[in-house]
Amino acid sequence: MIEDGVTRRGFLEVGGGVAAASLALAATPAAGLMPARGGGRAAGQRMPDGAQLPAAPPRQKRPDSVGFAVVGLGNYALNQMMPRFAQAQRAHVAAIVSGNPDKLRRVGDAYGVPADARYAYDTFANIASDKRIDAVYIVLPSGLHADWTIQAFAAGKHVLCEKPMALSSAECEQMVAASRRANRKLMIAYRSHFEPHNLQAMELMAQNAVGQLRLLRTEQSYRMGPTNPSEKWRVNRALAGGGPLEDLGIYGLQAALYLTREMPESISAATFRPGGDPRFSEIFAHVSSQWRFPSGAVAQLVTSYDSSGANFVHARGTTGALIMDPATNYSGQKMTLDGADRRDFTPGDPKVQFSRQLDHFVDAVRDGRPIRTPGEMGLRDLRLIEAIYASAAAGRTVRLNPDGTMRS
Ligand code: NDP
Repeated sequence: MIEDGVTRRGFLEVGGGVAAASLALAATPAAGLMPARGGGRAAGQRMPDGAQLPAAPPRQKRPDSVGFAVVGLGNYALNQMMPRFAQAQRAHVAAIVSGNPDKLRRVGDAYGVPADARYAYDTFANIASDKRIDAVYIVLPSGLHADWTIQAFAAGKHVLCEKPMALSSAECEQMVAASRRANRKLMIAYRSHFEPHNLQAMELMAQNAVGQLRLLRTEQSYRMGPTNPSEKWRVNRALAGGGPLEDLGIYGLQAALYLTREMPESISAATFRPGGDPRFSEIFAHVSSQWRFPSGAVAQLVTSYDSSGANFVHARGTTGALIMDPATNYSGQKMTLDGADRRDFTPGDPKVQFSRQLDHFVDAVRDGRPIRTPGEMGLRDLRLIEAIYASAAAGRTVRLNPDGTMRS
């Protein structure tokens, strides 16, 4: 079986990321899902988990730069997002929050985070009085997003929360309510909304570049290495929900919505869990769903943790097809419009998606600009995920209201 980090990286990373050589993405350490404690290293070197720390701390660029507390120093935070703050116009890492004192020290030193801005989870509430922190970036296992987002609002901070927003629509509603109560911004880190290929795809579909859309197909999959729910949060139901759909398939779900610009009126779905495989004792190996839209278009969405890597979106209409393969990776996107003529699109470097996402959130915090990927969008998506699981469990088609809730 292929090693997990390699296959997951293969899914997301085409053409090199922020530190291609450093992306030996670590699995969550063993021992009860708690982070490992390792030995010390200087900035500019690699952490034992493969993260590349910067040689010199990025500087705060502007006086109105938003200070973020990054919560959860795992693979995505260390290897992708934290290095991207350097390219954002008005965002900087002001604080870090981790359960691992050694990581706090080394990551804090590397990013120039003062010692008194390095928080443990049990001292998190103290960020309320820390004026250096304007916003909290939640990069924890998905089952922890709701709780820590609500705690961040209680501390009076704005929140950028990783996808999936949470593991249930009820949690999402609580997060949106907490944001309103605190009068603070809530954005879901759906990076494809800031990625040039996906943005151009949205425009092309709005201009009917494939004629009238008829069929949309998405697949996001990779093959996970041997593991079990006590070793890895991604196969633990309490932290990961049903598994591949919340983690990978959510990109296909998002694309189906932003390319059709419609909500499905019905969904029928199937899930699969092989017996006797510890990887899938709590989560699903594959999830597939078929959606019907009011326009008459249909979509097929497939996602898997147990098949070779794929990440594509195909939108086929009456006059042609838009083919995105890979569609939503960190980098290396390819996009072709296949119709009377065949045309490839290279609208820009996909890697700008990370810093543009940060700057977009800052524009909302500082200037009151509208958020493209608000909490309400994350809530909508969790409603659809719930409809998919409900359909699969009942073995029947589920009909939906325009807001994604299931019709009784
Ligand atoms: P990791 O397992 O690499 O990191 C998660 C971190 O959370 C850990 O390193 C740990 O940090 C902290 N943590 C706190 N409690 C627990 C616990 N009980 N079990 C495990 N970790 C814990 O995960 P990722 O970085 O890959 O994913 C984190 C989030 O980011 C997820 O919600 C995921 O969906 C999202 N993500 C988004 C991507 C995107 O492209 N937008 C890509 C990848 C992930 P510490 O040791 O500092 O306490």
